[in-house]
Amino acid sequence: METYKVGSTYLVKFNTHSDVLISMMVLLETEKAFHVRWNNGQNSNEQWLDKKTVNDYIFVEDITSFMKNDNKWGSVETKKVKTSLIPCFICKGFGTIPDTSSTAGNKICPRCNGAKMIELIVGTNN
Ligand SMILES: [Zn+2]
Repeated sequence: METYKVGSTYLVKFNTHSDVLISMMVLLETEKAFHVRWNNGQNSNEQWLDKKTVNDYIFVEDITSFMKNDNKWGSVETKKVKTSLIPCFICKGFGTIPDTSSTAGNKICPRCNGAKMIELIVGTNN
């Protein structure tokens, strides 16, 4: 099991059969949880996840050194934006993803938290 460090960015995947890699930056760590950002361009979002959940993801690669050369993640600039809801791109709008490690066969989608929809930025108010 990989030990995740605050300020580092990792490629992970949700199960061994997934061919989709997701970039996850660890923003904060508490005793029981990590605050992470899922990097997906303008669709990036942040989530608190308990450590057990984070460790369920399959570690692929530490990409911190690549991300440090990319200023867009370090930017503190904020903008007011207009958003619209679209079907979640991870679970394809089902709210769950396959989980071969449980008898249930699936688990709540970590991207939309089972909401099936995610916010897409469609424009700025500026
Ligand atoms: Zn989802």
